[in-house]
Amino acid sequence: MKRAKALRKMATCLFVAAFLAMISWMLYDILQRDSSISNDTNVLVMGTNATFKPFEYKDGGQVVGFDVELAQAIAKDMGKELKIEDMSFDGLLPALESGQIDMAVAGMSVTSEREKNALFSDPYYQASQRIIVPKNSKIANKYQLEHKKIAVQLGTTGDQAASKIKGAQVVQFPAAPNALQELAAGKVDAAVIDDAPAKQYVSGFPSLKIINTPLSSESYAIAFKKGNTELAEHANKTIANMKADGRYQALLQKYFGTAKEQAP
Ligand code: GLN
Repeated sequence: MKRAKALRKMATCLFVAAFLAMISWMLYDILQRDSSISNDTNVLVMGTNATFKPFEYKDGGQVVGFDVELAQAIAKDMGKELKIEDMSFDGLLPALESGQIDMAVAGMSVTSEREKNALFSDPYYQASQRIIVPKNSKIANKYQLEHKKIAVQLGTTGDQAASKIKGAQVVQFPAAPNALQELAAGKVDAAVIDDAPAKQYVSGFPSLKIINTPLSSESYAIAFKKGNTELAEHANKTIANMKADGRYQALLQKYFGTAKEQAP
């Protein structure tokens, strides 16, 4: 009787031990798998929004452009493979924060607001916001934008600049080309987007023109998660080396047809 009780107790103990062992093995496996995603040391994940020609755009399904080549050079110097995550521009900083991406390379302008939540590399391109209007528009400067309907890309510095214009009604779009389409269709009075993409995309809309005077002066830089100084230093080193050995100028030449004006 006593023996049977003892045996039952032992069996229960064994069962519980086996159960606990199984649970910890499963947990270990899940944790292992999880860390192999976030800590994959061979991959560098770049987040971008591929509607920003010539910095990032799609060519035959591939994301290509100035920023992509810059990011590829950084990855190569670190001995890593570059992976690109194409997402909405306003999702880039949250994606950095959550660790979904390692760096945002997206023609992103450095602003004091963004610097509160992200770490920026040294600037690699000097840009500005431009006003785009129909060729027959009476709007010739920012003052004439007051109380007008302005199309922008959501979450960009163009969005911020337009929001500061007195009485303006700002209409936000997911991508810069959408804002120009809306303008060409006569649904808004103007659009405000970055100078280089404006030049690229406006050429596809013969009824539109870019107003010469810039609305702002901005620097593009690569954004990292705050505290990721190690990666920022790697990026800065690559940028500096590319400027010193001519690869940076060759990139400007390739995507802008000129090697001088835009270097910061
Ligand atoms: N330079 C602008 C910004 O930082 C727009 C960038 C973009 O649309 N990719 O807000």
